[in-house]
This record gives sequence, C-alpha cells and structure tokens, in this order.
Amino acid sequence: SSFSESGLPKEVLDCCKSFSKPSPIQSRAWPFLLDGRDFIGIAATGSGKTLAFGVPALMHIQKIKNGKTSKKAVPRCLVLSPTRELAQQISDVLSDAGTPSGTKSVCLYGGTSKGPQIASLKSGVDIVIGTPGRMKDLIEMGVCQLKEVSYVVLDEADRMLDMGFEPEVRWILSQTSSTRQMVMFSATWPLAVHQLAQEFMDPNPVKV
Ligand code: AMP
Repeated sequence: SSFSESGLPKEVLDCCKSFSKPSPIQSRAWPFLLDGRDFIGIAATGSGKTLAFGVPALMHIQKIKNGKTSKKAVPRCLVLSPTRELAQQISDVLSDAGTPSGTKSVCLYGGTSKGPQIASLKSGVDIVIGTPGRMKDLIEMGVCQLKEVSYVVLDEADRMLDMGFEPEVRWILSQTSSTRQMVMFSATWPLAVHQLAQEFMDPNPVKV
C-alpha cells in the first residue's frame, strides 16, 4: 500500500515521486507481475494502469540487462494500443519512467512516415509501443523483430478488437517469445477478449 513497501528500486520508483501511494490497480498488479505471472486487469483509463504494467516492464528489462547497456536494437517488451493517441501517452509515461534506469522506449503508429520510427528503432530499443497496423508493417519490413520480446501488454484489448485489429494482434503475438509474460487491460470482458486471453495467456492468469 506504500511505495517503500513495494520493494522496488529507487530509480524505477522515481516516476512515482509525485504520487502519495500506489493506485489500487498498481498495488494489486505489481506483486503478481513482478512474480512473472500473467495478469488481466479490468480497469478503465485514469486508474493508473500505465504504471501498473509499466513499472514491472522496467523491472523485467533491468533483470534481463543486469546493469549492462544493451546495444542491440532488440526490444524485450511490447505494448499494443488501439490508437495513436494512447500509444503516444503510454510512450511518454514509459520514456520518463525509464530514463533513470537507461531504458529506451520507441513508439510506432500509422499516419506518419516510417523513416523516423525506423531510425529510432535502429538506435536501440527496450520497449516498443505501438498500434497494430504500423507495428505489423515494420515487422514485415524486417526493421522491428519481436522474437526476444518476453513481456507483452495488450492495452484496451476490447477496443483494439472492436476496431478490427484482431488479425494483426494475433499475428504480432505469434512473433513474440513463446515464454512471454502477458498482461491484458480491458474496460469490458466480451467473448472475443476472453478467447484471446485463453489462447495466448497462461491457463490461470490472475484476473483483477
Ligand atoms: P492512466 O490510467 O495510466 O492513464 O493514469 C491516469 C492518471 O493517473 C495519470 O495522470 C497518472 O499520472 C496518474 N497516476 C498514476 N499513478 C498514480 C498514483 N499512484 N497516484 C496518483 N495518480 C497516479
């Protein structure tokens, strides 16, 4: 219920300096996510869900890198979001939160030229955040490869499927490591989202 009790390192918790305590979804998600469990959060925007999945994402990367700076342009964490606006918001939060620990985030979305996105991927990336269409394009072009992605977040999963992104989402998930940890946030829990969870997550994910 407090940041000091979370046991998280200071450079990761720096992003929470302006908050008095973890939000309910954060204090419920962190212990499970830090323990490597798959997690489903039924939560709306404004609940603090970005840091609920973001802080464990930073810890996941720290554990893999173990203090070394990875020079490879190979992401370890993937966040899929239905819209460009949401992807950019998430990217801003994770870029700020990741700076103290040297974690680099790159945001990929359509409606703009690919060049700058390709350039930032090539300069190194730990967390890739994006919308499904552009993400798929860049994977197919061979400039973004996900086989070392072992922490995956589907944000606003219900909205992503409502917008018709299910084929892209499924294809992108199939490109990630089969031993991935998976996090899903959704405001509602329709059958299509339930089925996606059954297919791509552990048989017994934590659902909050
Ligand atoms: P989100 O649901 O991630 O879009 O976050 C909604 C808003 O809550 C953002 O403005 C965050 O900065 C803020 N927020 C995130 N975590 C906390 C917290 N522990 N306490 C208070 N506000 C928070």
